Amino acid sequence: MELTDRVVIVTGAGSGIGEAIARAAHAAGARHVVVADLHGHEAERVAADIGGTAVAIDVSDESAIQQMVESTLDAHGPIDLFVSNAGFVTAAGLEDTNEAIQTMWEVHCMAHIYAARAVLPSMIARGEGYILSTASAAGLLTQIGSMAYSMTKAAAVSLAEWLSISHHHQGIRFSVLCPQAVATNIVRNSPQNSMVAARTGGADSTDDKGFEGGVASGDGVLDPADVAELCLQAIRDEQFLILPHPEVATYTERKATDRDRWLGGMRRFQSALHPDGNLPGNAIAP
Ligand code: NAD
Repeated sequence: MELTDRVVIVTGAGSGIGEAIARAAHAAGARHVVVADLHGHEAERVAADIGGTAVAIDVSDESAIQQMVESTLDAHGPIDLFVSNAGFVTAAGLEDTNEAIQTMWEVHCMAHIYAARAVLPSMIARGEGYILSTASAAGLLTQIGSMAYSMTKAAAVSLAEWLSISHHHQGIRFSVLCPQAVATNIVRNSPQNSMVAARTGGADSTDDKGFEGGVASGDGVLDPADVAELCLQAIRDEQFLILPHPEVATYTERKATDRDRWLGGMRRFQSALHPDGNLPGNAIAP
């Protein structure tokens, strides 16, 4: 799909990867971009720059997603591309609270379901539409130190695969974005930011390195604008899996070929990240 004259909604567009995708969509000739974010003032900042509409929204609220889609359809006509991108990080294992795990589940998985449910009927009626969801390389591999991030991003990848299989014949196309480290404000923007900073060790709550900069930066920390350009190219090519770090393809292959060997390698990698021996699992040691 080419973005010229298209109507686009991007969630989590007040910062980082979502902001870069919103700006890139505008630069590529989109007719209108809806800039949605939990932080309304950040959405307004980006929308003002690109002549878009700012929406202050919590993507885990299904009725709010429905309302945003309906008002966009009313004001701007058919929605061509929905980028379901909002997300945040935690750094905890079994000791995390049920409430925190549930919140992450809602933002990283249910929000993609709400988006698809809201936008697909009008797309199917036209026989055309595109959904791009942001998961993470963690969804294909794992996120050392964050149980909830690992499992919710894996669910996001699985959901995107299922939707692509189920709705391709209706003219709908899907892509799932799975980067490693990208230089964004994700640590600072996350509710447990000081704990994440302390436990990941790679970024403090006020720098711009990004969560995965701490544990997944071995293959480089990318600029969000470059990631956004890769997303636009994938949309043009109707390519499902977007791997801004190409090494992730090799890691995924190794994981699929010999799971025990891969687990051993990940344990060694985790130990190397915590030379003091204070491994994430020790948080619930007796
Ligand atoms: P970011 O913090 O710069 O941007 C994320 C935006 O999402 C923020 O503006 C935040 O306010 C918004 N948001 C969070 N929860 C929300 C909610 N409930 N409703 C609406 N908006 C909400 O971080 P980013 O790195 O650009 O993250 C974007 C996506 O990329 C996330 O899904 C993240 O998990 C994923 N990701 C990031 C990295 C990385 O290294 N930065 C790597 C892989 C995947």
